[in-house]
Amino acid sequence: MNSSVIGFPRVGKLRELKFASEKYFKQEISTEELEQVAKGLREMHWNLQQAAGISHIPSNDFSYYDNVLDLTVLLNALPENYRQLGLSERDTYFAAARGYQGVAGDAKALAMKKWFNTNYHYLVPELSDNTEIKLVGDKPFVEYEEAKAIGVLTKPVLIGGFTFLKLAKYKGSKTINDFADQVADAYIAILDRFNEQGVEWVQFDEPSLVTDLTQEDVALFTALYEKVLAHKGNVKVLLQTYFGDIRDSYEEVVGLDFDGIGLDFIEGKQTVELLERYGFPADKTLFAGVLNGKNIWKSDYKKVITLVNGLKKHSNDIVISTSCSLLHVPYTLENETSLPEEVSQYFAFAKERLQEIKELTELIGTSGSGYEEQAAYLANQKVFSADRVYEDKHVQASVASLTERDFVRNVPRQKRRAIQKEKLQLGLLPTTTIGSFPQTREVKQNRSKYRKGAISKAEYDENIKGFIKECIDLQEELGLDVLVHGESERNDMVEFFGENLAGYVFTEKAWVQSYGTRCVKPPIIFGDIRRENPITVFYSEYAQSLSDKPVKGMLTGPVTILNWSFPREDISLREMAFQIGLAIREEVLDLEEAGIKIIQIDEAALKEKLPIRREEWASEYLDWAIPAFRLCHSGVRPETQVHTHMCYSEFEEIVKDIDNMDADVISFEASRSKLTIIDALKANQFETEVGPGVYDIHSPRVPSVEEMVAVLKNALTKIDEENLWINPDCGLKTRGIKETRESLANLVAAAQIIKDAV
Ligand code: GLN
Ligand code: ZN
Repeated sequence: MNSSVIGFPRVGKLRELKFASEKYFKQEISTEELEQVAKGLREMHWNLQQAAGISHIPSNDFSYYDNVLDLTVLLNALPENYRQLGLSERDTYFAAARGYQGVAGDAKALAMKKWFNTNYHYLVPELSDNTEIKLVGDKPFVEYEEAKAIGVLTKPVLIGGFTFLKLAKYKGSKTINDFADQVADAYIAILDRFNEQGVEWVQFDEPSLVTDLTQEDVALFTALYEKVLAHKGNVKVLLQTYFGDIRDSYEEVVGLDFDGIGLDFIEGKQTVELLERYGFPADKTLFAGVLNGKNIWKSDYKKVITLVNGLKKHSNDIVISTSCSLLHVPYTLENETSLPEEVSQYFAFAKERLQEIKELTELIGTSGSGYEEQAAYLANQKVFSADRVYEDKHVQASVASLTERDFVRNVPRQKRRAIQKEKLQLGLLPTTTIGSFPQTREVKQNRSKYRKGAISKAEYDENIKGFIKECIDLQEELGLDVLVHGESERNDMVEFFGENLAGYVFTEKAWVQSYGTRCVKPPIIFGDIRRENPITVFYSEYAQSLSDKPVKGMLTGPVTILNWSFPREDISLREMAFQIGLAIREEVLDLEEAGIKIIQIDEAALKEKLPIRREEWASEYLDWAIPAFRLCHSGVRPETQVHTHMCYSEFEEIVKDIDNMDADVISFEASRSKLTIIDALKANQFETEVGPGVYDIHSPRVPSVEEMVAVLKNALTKIDEENLWINPDCGLKTRGIKETRESLANLVAAAQIIKDAV
């Protein structure tokens, strides 16, 4: 049995590439030194895969920053302004990735966007009317030779032309079809080069095939590949898909002259059905994505073997493969020193996934029978047959007994509004912030000292109280209406809650690339989630004791906590969201009990995990995500005001669902997207009061009073003054104290001008 890996993590097991790149950006190391680190990583990853007996090892999956950007450069599609800087090739590349400001000129970075349904972000190609697409680079060819030189024959991997065209932004009058021929020619040129090199297999990734496709899309795809494949020569072409099934194009895809087709059996809900309905061509290899490339749990060998054996009736040429690139999981468990064996035995990160592939190819190779007695199989099944620790029958019963009423606030929103106005006495157009205040060095040191055991819990809390007091004093001085405690006890809005909930486990080095040099370390939901003790009440209560103005309680919502964690695979997302929802609900009720009048439950990442296919938005996601939020706050009294916050404003298409969260107030980012969302709110008769962020906190720039007055005036043409709040567009934790003070002073001044005018 042969095996394939779609792509391997590239930052290194201890983020070596990240650190080398950052040094390079600061000019602490030379181009050659950076390249040396990169080369070492590539070699190590190839050797690892070869040792695991992988027959189709990827090359060109390495990237200094992003594979889409690599392709953009390879195809001569990098916008003119970066090239005009006259920098070296490497620095031109980094200028497009990160922006450039210096002696050579000034250029903003390319836009960054979420890579399908992952937390990876790619740089969006920009095609203008004078872009001429053609093969100009040689990265894939050089990396193939590099691997060959150390005795590893690889399968070069490139994002395919269709996905490239679908992801690109069109800046001029030319559109997607105008570039199709150029793209086809460029891929033909690429195949020519691979032919010259004697490459056996090449992999073209076309994840766009799993999205909703129109007939024109399918026609474009078909035309593109008819042309390209006519010139493939001796190279075998693998069409690789992932993140779902290809229900809109399967029939056309199997009719094309590909030599192999890679399908996703993990996220592709209809993949098996498609094979059953349309069959699989006898002259092609089926690359079966049966090992999860996105999650960190061990594969259940029994399930995998049953699945693969079932596929044998469709094809007698099967290669087992990961479901997507392993880029989306951490590198290895070997660096985890504090996970107990009873926990870590359940996990397989990238390196351990290779070991699974090795074992599975051997087991499946045992001609279908006898594998059940093999040691590797027995060891694997032992993990799956034992009861998972951290099961919590009480939590399970609570979720099972939820009824309609648990999701509904007693008093409808319009009635609550009058009660809250009366009780809170905020007046029109209240000013507030999103929660966090600058994380100064002192704030960070307090946490790290406590973690290292250098200070006691009592000292730690005393220091936090000091930060809270400073924060409240500052807000009083600035004259904000609704205050916050500043979140100085939190490093991260999800990790903080994870650490305080039973059922979570944490890793030390399990980093996953989010974009470029940025990596995240998502916590893992290991068992049933339960709140053991109040989490934030102490801080919120103290903050409220310092002011007569309302201080918001500050929580993270269940959907965001779930979306930024590695989820379990043995229970549904809905079940996990409800468990977390119940835990947050207890916290909400305790905050209310402690006298907190306004409680904000952030759902920063609510939109992130919307299914790729629209027809599944409701059934697979919103139908439990929105109730999970409602569960958190349905138990509070009508006078308690519930806020939520979302980071991105592009929720035009789900405005009704957002309204249906039944919060009293929502704040969101709208300053960068020029308030277009507001039209959608108006059109949908949005009921929730809104604070459409009046300035962008992602930049150190201090917004002027006039520009915020202008934003507010604009907002007031579309939003009733009774419903408008005034706030920055996100938390201030990444900002400095000085710019924060100035920005908020201007915000309050702008608010006053507007208040005087209405
Ligand atoms: N309350 C959080 C903060 O202010 C919200 C952060 C976020 O939306 N990403 O930091
Ligand atoms: Zn935000």
